[in-house]
Amino acid sequence: MKTIGYAAHSSDANMVPYHFERRDLRDNDVAIEILYSGICHSDLHTVNGDWGPQPYPLVPGHEIVGRVIEVGKDVKNYKVGDNVAVGCMVDSCQDCDQCHNHEEQFCRNGMTPTYGAPDRISGYTTQGGYSKHIVVREEFVLSVPDKLDISKAAPILCAGITTYSPLRNWNVGKGSRVGVIGLGGLGHMAVKLAVAMGAEVTVISRSTNKEDQAKEIGAKGILASTDEAAMEKAASSFDLIIDTVPVKHTVDAYVPLLDVNGSLVIVGQVGPMDGFMTWPMISGRRRVAGSLIGGIKETQEVLDFCAEHNIHPECKMINPDEVNDAFAHLKDGDVAYRFVMDMSKLENAA
Ligand code: NAP
Ligand code: ZN
Repeated sequence: MKTIGYAAHSSDANMVPYHFERRDLRDNDVAIEILYSGICHSDLHTVNGDWGPQPYPLVPGHEIVGRVIEVGKDVKNYKVGDNVAVGCMVDSCQDCDQCHNHEEQFCRNGMTPTYGAPDRISGYTTQGGYSKHIVVREEFVLSVPDKLDISKAAPILCAGITTYSPLRNWNVGKGSRVGVIGLGGLGHMAVKLAVAMGAEVTVISRSTNKEDQAKEIGAKGILASTDEAAMEKAASSFDLIIDTVPVKHTVDAYVPLLDVNGSLVIVGQVGPMDGFMTWPMISGRRRVAGSLIGGIKETQEVLDFCAEHNIHPECKMINPDEVNDAFAHLKDGDVAYRFVMDMSKLENAA
């Protein structure tokens, strides 16, 4: 199938229109016309080569919402016309303990990311959601509940699941005291989801500039990490902190904010971290942990949770030809929402 998307041709070049082919439909495949595509900071990291060399040309995008246009003969759960979604993975071995346990992100044989990785069968490079069409095996296709506005659902596929999974894993519920470091794409979904679970949520930001946005989405308040007195006053006041900071940083200032037995879960920075004070952990049985997206079953769960609780990501809708401007904003860290591309505008842009 011929299609068009936006691709990076090297780590330092702008994204440009790119014609390419999707694989022929296999018996268990679903072909999707992409309607909306979210822009994750991971797309920027990947394009920039922050996580290692990439197979350019690279079409990023793993927050995908669209409509089924064709199904293979063995597909059971989807039919032409259904509203569906695709997240950060498009395949896994389906056979190891982690896959059986619905945690395909930890597949022992390596899950297949939505873009920039070899397809398990043909070996061609997967290409993501900044495009008109995608072909994905049925097991990695999600259903978009009718109650969700499909134009606003895309960020749930990464920002949503990446924050929902640790909130669930650490049993956040009524009365939990949750801190969210960084009010961006992931951070703002962490706030909305934790509030819906009954938690009292504080945004921990570099300044108080985003206070209004934090409160509008349900946070109790904002704590400026640069305000030493406020940070000291907030010591031992959180059960769980989710750290979405996308760049190299140290958690030393944040760990003392945890109460005894509290956990700080890193979902943002990948790579070495400078300085690491052990005493705050030892002296309060505090933990520093990490978390990677979530399994397919849990991704369906967060879509259903958002529908049930009327949670929609804060989306700034843009045309695909504005993708390079959106990347510049993510780099500056000045957004408290998610950029989502209206992919129906792609033909006009190309
Ligand atoms: P984003 O929309 O750019 O938001 C990141 C936020 O972090 C910013 O809004 C900013 O919030 C804060 N920040 C930015 N630069 C900073 C700096 N130099 N120092 C301290 N804080 C800074 O990014 P995102 O899409 O939410 O992604 C966040 C990170 O999560 C990325 O690294 C991404 O690759 C990663 N990620 C991980 C997973 C996973 O499975 N673990 C999944 C998806 C994404 P304030 O202005 O409030 O400080
Ligand atoms: Zn992402």
